[in-house]
Amino acid sequence: MSQDTLWLAVDDHGNPEIFSSIQGEGASLGAPRTFVRLSGCNLHCKWCDTAYTWNFEGTPFPHEDDVKFVPTEERLSRSFEEIAAEVAKSQPSGIVITGGEPMLQKGKLAAMITAIKNESGPVWVEIETNGSIAPPADLVPLVNQFNVSPKLSHSGNEARTALNPVSLAVYAQLPQSWFKFVIATPDDLDEVLSLTRQFRIPHERVYLMPLGRSSEEVRTRSKWLTEECLRHGMNFTDRLHIHLYGDTRGT
Ligand code: SF4
Repeated sequence: MSQDTLWLAVDDHGNPEIFSSIQGEGASLGAPRTFVRLSGCNLHCKWCDTAYTWNFEGTPFPHEDDVKFVPTEERLSRSFEEIAAEVAKSQPSGIVITGGEPMLQKGKLAAMITAIKNESGPVWVEIETNGSIAPPADLVPLVNQFNVSPKLSHSGNEARTALNPVSLAVYAQLPQSWFKFVIATPDDLDEVLSLTRQFRIPHERVYLMPLGRSSEEVRTRSKWLTEECLRHGMNFTDRLHIHLYGDTRGT
């Protein structure tokens, strides 16, 4: 792949997964956004709802769906200009660069964002990341909002891989970082509190989000999770796209 292209995930029609939708989670929930989904992830969450971005044939990673994907069918390389032209079709007021883990291609994100801004004007820029790879210095000023979602032990990742202290410390001191934790059981709060203490993350910058790939799962966990949010002074976030569209690509 040449230097000026990125790997993108593929939608149900075989096209790069670039789509308009409402932001379904976190600090900008409900805002209209154009999403650019990049392929590849350095973590391997067993409940990941975008496993087609990383759980390829021949890899040893377990996943609750027990499905492996063919890389040639699930990722496409596109130039910054091609991505910018596709994004511009939606006349975006804001974009979300998501994955997978966008920071795997961190050296190219500043150039991609610049190409998008050249084409679409001064859009709001969000990057969704698992927080294990720090952003390069040239990227930080181009990003309005980092949605940082460190993965807890119930994800199946080892803490030494998922919770990189150097990178989490960088995100924790950026004013545009919001933290979002996927919560499966009330016991997960111990891990969240340990991390907020270690990295001095103010609780008002934290969202707790119920694990769930169906509306029913999300709603069931939401009942007790809102109580935990009240107890700890943290924010609750729903998964609005799951209620609206289910666990589907391009939404
Ligand atoms: S970090 Fe995100 S994209 Fe990567 S495996 Fe976990 S949930 Fe999926």
